[in-house]
Amino acid sequence: YRHTLSENGIYLDDNQWKAVQTTEGPLLILAGAGSGKTRVLTTRTAFMLTELNYSPKEMILVTFTAKAAKEMKERMRLYPGISSSTLNQLVIGTFHSIFYKMLMHHEPEQWSPNNLLNQEWQRQAMIKEASREIDIDEKEFAFDQALTQISWWKNHLTTPDQVKPKDVWEERVSYLYKRYEQMRLAKNLFDFDDMLIGLHELLTRNTHLLKRYQQRFAYVSVDEFQDINKVQVELITMLCDRTKNLCVVGDDDQSIYAFRGSDPSYILNFKDRYPETKMVILNENYRSNHQIVSSANNVITTNRTRYAKQLLAQTSSEKPPLLFYPFDEEEEATMIMNDIKKQIENGANPADFAILFRTNSSARALIERFISSSIPFQLEADGESFYRRKAVRKVLAYLKLARNPDDSQALQELVSALFLKQQAVRDIKAASIANDCTYIEALPHLQGLQPFQMKKLSELPKRFLQLQKKSPVQAIEFIEQEMGFNDYVKKQGNEGNKMERGSDDIRDLKVMARHHSTIEDLLDYIDHMTIKYDEVRYQKNITNATQLMTIHRAKGLEYKHVYILSCVEGSLPHDYALEAWREGDDKPLEEERRLMYVAMTRAEESLKLSVPITRRGKKAFRSRFVREVQRLAPKQQLKS
Ligand code: ATP
Ligand code: MG
Repeated sequence: YRHTLSENGIYLDDNQWKAVQTTEGPLLILAGAGSGKTRVLTTRTAFMLTELNYSPKEMILVTFTAKAAKEMKERMRLYPGISSSTLNQLVIGTFHSIFYKMLMHHEPEQWSPNNLLNQEWQRQAMIKEASREIDIDEKEFAFDQALTQISWWKNHLTTPDQVKPKDVWEERVSYLYKRYEQMRLAKNLFDFDDMLIGLHELLTRNTHLLKRYQQRFAYVSVDEFQDINKVQVELITMLCDRTKNLCVVGDDDQSIYAFRGSDPSYILNFKDRYPETKMVILNENYRSNHQIVSSANNVITTNRTRYAKQLLAQTSSEKPPLLFYPFDEEEEATMIMNDIKKQIENGANPADFAILFRTNSSARALIERFISSSIPFQLEADGESFYRRKAVRKVLAYLKLARNPDDSQALQELVSALFLKQQAVRDIKAASIANDCTYIEALPHLQGLQPFQMKKLSELPKRFLQLQKKSPVQAIEFIEQEMGFNDYVKKQGNEGNKMERGSDDIRDLKVMARHHSTIEDLLDYIDHMTIKYDEVRYQKNITNATQLMTIHRAKGLEYKHVYILSCVEGSLPHDYALEAWREGDDKPLEEERRLMYVAMTRAEESLKLSVPITRRGKKAFRSRFVREVQRLAPKQQLKS
């Protein structure tokens, strides 16, 4: 069989082959990136089906993303002897897709898709409603982060009563969690997390049913096991309890979802759970060139908490990772764009390239450059457009009111930045009618305010006039310093509303504003980009497209040419990890290093790291990870 496969261009190495043949009992395949873990998983399944004649119905293959599941199916199709009917009977999918189907099968009414809270805004609306019952400023509170926290608790099977809040923020969120659950249950609704919790409850309650599933699914395999969380591990353990034929595959160095509750100790302690575990280590990397592998190794071996593994490259190309040094975010985008264009002109496909970034906000300039270019691209990132971020929205509101002092939407945004209540909007509008003036001119006419507020408001019409005459960058600085925006950001930080890094966002905004000469220009550009961003965000399945994606989304995937954006301190590693590290906690920093490792090991032929000289308008410092890359071979410092 091993030979048959070689006709497909793959000849398994000894360790891979051993893993494929180990079909019974718990099996742990722990290995570095690109060593063929996913390949082994699919080959092993194909082997069991075609050589051992196991029934596809008794097998289940789980992975983390829909993209990975789709790719697995495609790979399975290529093995000799796998018919499409076999493939259709095989259960391959994500945790959610597989387990939701089971729930639907048993309790179709309760779990009808009509009752699914599948939109973020639906869930937000519920906790917003609950937030009115306690002292939360609805305009300012970070509801998105609250939902992430709630999801984290749910995935840990922590009920609202079991939460032990660490600070005011968690106290508030735990209240919202409790109310969210009550409201959801009253309306018979459920969210994605509930699917797993629901099945867990069902199988705990109904042992008869559990037995049936244990009978049916005799062979269970899980890819990317390092990112499994509590509820997932419990479900998998329950299903395998009879046969213990559980094959898990993963790499503790690629565990990057701690914030969602994933925990690499499940893979590292796998043997404690199943003492009879057979273990296979793969240490050949078949994906990346030799220099990329050794650089990535160099980075990851700096981590202290890890399972020591070796990784040797199979390919012999000697092209080292290339460093390049753009001046700022805008030049970074331009350099990458031009580099890719040149290669496409020389015959490369757009799909050969992936550009990876740590956070959406670090990719703003890049995304905008692609929007205005002719290279087909696909954006894989979570979150809203940069221009919809809270602090940015507020500053833009000032600029919009400078452009048009009767902009109603901008006025809404502005009132909270001026420490006014939302109802002030009505009063301002009324005053503007009564005095036949613009909204801005109406501000000093507001009644019943504190003297300090009155003083501020009475100055504003004049300030807005001054604002109009400024260049965009000067205008933003004026808003920060002279119009009270900095005070506002500070106050938000103090009040536990979690408007994090508002001032960073504004610095990003200033970097981009440098390229526009008037406020009018700047606002037109931003309007255009905001609309375009929403368009590209939902575009799927563009063929032969360059991938722009967060590192998190790139896990398990591979590309010929990879670029990593913004390899500077504060971006990768992220600021929050550096803060924790300064306070003596190096866990987040180690997770950042794993992210760097994941990013680097996506590359097959070439890897280019961008190290901008400035970031957010200030001098930037080369990422410590870049220093770790260079430590091995100092000659690798190349200029682009
Ligand atoms: P990751 O940790 O990133 O998920 P992985 O360990 O799952 O990586 P795969 O994606 O399975 O690695 O394999 C990496 C690449 O190497 C794939 O293109 C795969 O087809 C190829 N490959 C795996 N094993 C072999 C082999 N024995 N001979 C040739 N190519 C191989
Ligand atoms: Mg894989």
